[in-house]
Amino acid sequence: MTGRTALVTGAGRGIGREIALTLAREGVDIAVNYNSSESAARETAEQIEAMGRKAVLLPCDVADFKASGEMVQRAVESFGRLDILINNAGITRDNLLLRMTEEEFDAVLDTNLKGCFHLIRHVAKVMLKQRYGRIVNLSSISGVLGNAGQANYSASKAGIIGLTKSAARELASRNITVNAIAPGFIDTEMTKDLSDSVKESILAQIPMRRFGSTKDIAEAAKFLVSDYAAYITGQVIQINGGMAM
Ligand code: NAP
Repeated sequence: MTGRTALVTGAGRGIGREIALTLAREGVDIAVNYNSSESAARETAEQIEAMGRKAVLLPCDVADFKASGEMVQRAVESFGRLDILINNAGITRDNLLLRMTEEEFDAVLDTNLKGCFHLIRHVAKVMLKQRYGRIVNLSSISGVLGNAGQANYSASKAGIIGLTKSAARELASRNITVNAIAPGFIDTEMTKDLSDSVKESILAQIPMRRFGSTKDIAEAAKFLVSDYAAYITGQVIQINGGMAM
């Protein structure tokens, strides 16, 4: 994939960082987006540069439509083109439905679902002109099965699946593929605060009896943006150790 360029949202840490580093290892130059974790994002960028690839740091809140457009423009100015978009940025604000505030619901929808729309909307213009593009959106097992205490998060991640399929249909004729990855439980900061009893009950539901690693997700993302996956679009790849089949 040498010479390709990618924008990875939330690339400072967790799954986003792993995807950014994995693509850089394949020869891809990376626009490293972050929102609050500047020093972590700087570290990601340094690791990319140490591999001999270009990295550009792009702070932006993906929930902001206009700022997302400006970020895409800066990425294109830096690299001359934009081949790959990884919509990874995501947050949780867990609460039981009857206690969930409107703010909690909106914050999660704005970042997770609207954020994906914002980036696809801006990047599609560039990719349509190029007649080439690879888009991967991070959904979740919560968007497939639902999850008690996560009505906002599950709605946003189920929404991403619909968005992925519609975008895939609209963009396919221009050689732009759009797919989603729905991870199960992955070892990152997002899951580290789960209590031991919750972790145990989740593990009991995973046939492989372990949480996934960021590498498990990054390798699938690498495949989906590679030439090996040129005829795959509108799909949801579930990576969950068999938790949902
Ligand atoms: P994480 O460790 O909590 O990292 C979240 C990332 O999203 C951070 O890089 C963060 O950047 C970024 N982000 C959050 N709000 C943002 C905003 N408004 N604008 C730009 N960036 C923003 O989470 P993770 O586990 O790596 O998850 C990555 C993705 O996979 C998410 O979409 C998540 O929903 C999904 N996922 C995770 C799991 C899991 O078990 N971990 C399972 C299923 C799906 P800053 O730190 O710079 O704010």
